[in-house]
Amino acid sequence: MPTPPPIAIVGAGLAGLTCARALHARGVPLHIFDKGRGPGGRMSTRRHGEALRFDHGAQYVTARSEAFRAQLQRWVAAGVAAPWRGRVRVLERGEVSDTRRATERYVGVPGMSALVSHQARGLEVAFGTRVAPLERDGARWRLRTTGGEELGEFERVVIAVPAPQAAALLPEGSALRRAAEEAVMNPCWAALAAWDAPLGLPFDGAFVHRSPLAWIARDSDKPERPEGSRWVLHASHAWSRDHLERERDEVAALLLQALRDATPRPIPEPTFLTAHRWRYAIPAPALEARSFHDAALGLGVCGDWCAAPRVEGAFLSGAHLAERVAAHLGV
Ligand SMILES: Cc1cc2nc3c(=O)[nH]c(=O)nc-3n(C[C@H](O)[C@H](O)[C@H](O)COP(=O)(O)OP(=O)(O)OC[C@H]3O[C@@H](n4cnc5c(N)ncnc54)[C@H](O)[C@@H]3O)c2cc1C
Repeated sequence: MPTPPPIAIVGAGLAGLTCARALHARGVPLHIFDKGRGPGGRMSTRRHGEALRFDHGAQYVTARSEAFRAQLQRWVAAGVAAPWRGRVRVLERGEVSDTRRATERYVGVPGMSALVSHQARGLEVAFGTRVAPLERDGARWRLRTTGGEELGEFERVVIAVPAPQAAALLPEGSALRRAAEEAVMNPCWAALAAWDAPLGLPFDGAFVHRSPLAWIARDSDKPERPEGSRWVLHASHAWSRDHLERERDEVAALLLQALRDATPRPIPEPTFLTAHRWRYAIPAPALEARSFHDAALGLGVCGDWCAAPRVEGAFLSGAHLAERVAAHLGV
């Protein structure tokens, strides 16, 4: 069977790489581009030196579908995922209570980005490459960086980026662009903080109610992390939206104060504190298409926002699109 022409994949988060792995396994040549410095996307692990590492985006992974449960088990067997058995509670104005449901949570080891790195093995990804809106050139798509550098011409392109960024890349007037424009994504401000000594809180992660915070986690409690007392604080979507354009240091200080207001014990000054803004953090809600594919235009779209608002959704969407593209190519 002749080798199909190369496909360009824009976005090397879990969705793009899951799609890429499946197509690569069927012998489809790929050119993968990502604007980030390394693998991860919203599952990145942020580093400040060796000891200060934080999962500042996705916190843990859960599986509801058989397909993703099987993938999780493959990651565990490969040594890149492990169960996180931290004590997860509900926190409301200093009161700590149990969560209603028991949930099995898994994390990447030694950080969440390990799951995406594993998905990228054997694939070549051009990092630091921010792709500009697609341009039609005859029957092909011409890809360039936002700086004007040529990336090649392709009959088929897969877009695997958050919905608003996908809409900006896709051709005007196309149904795919309309779908991406329809999807809403909530922002999330994250504060990352470290202390010299444990905070002595009676939990390792908590869903926070009636607070600017929605979630806090002792990142250093997760398996195979460096010793220390490192916490990730996620603001609620509403608070993040209201404070979206505020300065990073100001947001970090406000979220630290919110932690002090929410917790039952005094919180000392941290030795490290910063904040990160996720402008497009979580789809709200995800569309139910799984993925989008326009064979005539040679375009496919995947990402959590097409399937479900979590890591599992990104995986299922990438896998779904790969099946559609492969069926079309007959590979
Ligand atoms: C704060 C936060 C907390 C979360 N918590 C959880 C959780 O606990 N559990 C859970 O299951 N999920 C969680 N999620 C959601 C989870 O992270 C996502 O569902 C999943 O990572 C989405 O993967 P993706 O591949 O669809 O998108 P992404 O990971 O966003 O990947 C898209 C990639 O496209 C690249 N890109 C974008 N535009 C361009 C361009 N123009 N050119 C080139 N590259 C481009 C980006 O650099 C990125 O690497 C959380 C997300 C955030 C932000």
